[in-house]
Amino acid sequence: MVIARHRPRGLMVRYTVRQVFWSVRDTVSEAPARHDLAELERPALEAALMAAGYERFRARQLFQWIYRRGVVDPARMSDLSRDLREALARDFVLTTPTLVHRERSSDGTEKFLLRLADGRQIESVFIPDTPSMTFCVSTQVGCAMACAFCLTGRMGLVRNLTAGEIVGQVRVLVDALAMRGVRFNIVLMGMGEPLHNYDATMTALRILADEFGFAMSPRRITLSTVGLLPALEKLAHEPVMPNLAISLHAPTDEQRGELVPLNKKYGVADVIAACKRFPLKRRNRITFEYVLLSGVNDRPEDARRLARLLAGVKSKVNLIPLNAAPGIPFERPADDAVSRFAQVLADHHITVSVRKSRGRDIRAACGQLIVEGQKKSPAQQLAVIL
Ligand code: SAH
Repeated sequence: MVIARHRPRGLMVRYTVRQVFWSVRDTVSEAPARHDLAELERPALEAALMAAGYERFRARQLFQWIYRRGVVDPARMSDLSRDLREALARDFVLTTPTLVHRERSSDGTEKFLLRLADGRQIESVFIPDTPSMTFCVSTQVGCAMACAFCLTGRMGLVRNLTAGEIVGQVRVLVDALAMRGVRFNIVLMGMGEPLHNYDATMTALRILADEFGFAMSPRRITLSTVGLLPALEKLAHEPVMPNLAISLHAPTDEQRGELVPLNKKYGVADVIAACKRFPLKRRNRITFEYVLLSGVNDRPEDARRLARLLAGVKSKVNLIPLNAAPGIPFERPADDAVSRFAQVLADHHITVSVRKSRGRDIRAACGQLIVEGQKKSPAQQLAVIL
């Protein structure tokens, strides 16, 4: 075998295969950087294995072990040669977020607090029976978009997640919920703005879609964005194309500008024009999310404007009555205001649904994900100083 069997190891102590595999990178800071299997989509893994002298098809086997069977210890990967298992333990790591805490809502929704390799924490949510099982996954620690009604926005952006950390949430949830082999959907609606972390998000989608791994159909994945238009234009050309949800929240620039700071850069008309250009498969539609805020954007007049705006767009509207939280200066509208708003849209032949607020009692509902007490990034500190 071509692997350098006699190369001095970065570690003085003789670890068992399993321990070496699990050791974190900084314990071997002198050694050359080891590939993190969690970060590699299959072509990259094939290249890494072939560079080490192994056959290309080993990547398929590894994908099956890691994603399909949930086995991360190379010693247990029984169809790999001993050489390869040793090489994996020596030259690769597989980083998995650590489950710190899980909390179950009275409605069955579960919120998971996960710790990443650098100690940062994120939240992921499991929402059962909607009608299928759904994982709500984060793409960033915090978020830079600062939407006026969103708690995550209060954190600012701490850092982007890596592709492995995005997929890692799915790996951890499948295990924790004993859902191996069960079909589920993914919504990129946890912490963060997925299009603000474009490359990692796309790599994660390709890993999730890989036929030897989770083999997720992109139709089971929904990407929600506040409307970063250059990235949205790029998304239009991706081979793995998720469903698209646009966080619109208001039909005019005047109103939206107050709620979504990014609207000052990419206004309502531009967002709608980009949606009209967005390539959709037959019978597919763009979801427009609309957080209803009492007295702000929930009047019948707003609904009529919204209906006019969406005329000619292959769309459906998902109304989200605000999930209120301390420090959020808005109120949730009464149920009859929500119904009235929905009725106006329906009268204009717009498909409309009202999102049930799941997991509000454990702060797992939309816009309620926040991890307190994280150290601020240099960029954040700078922002505070300025
Ligand atoms: N950054 C992405 C994903 C955000 S979370 C985006 O903006 O689309 C998914 C949805 O929850 C978004 O539509 C977001 O606007 C909404 N949301 C945020 N805070 C909320 C709150 N307090 N109540 C209800 N929905 C909220």
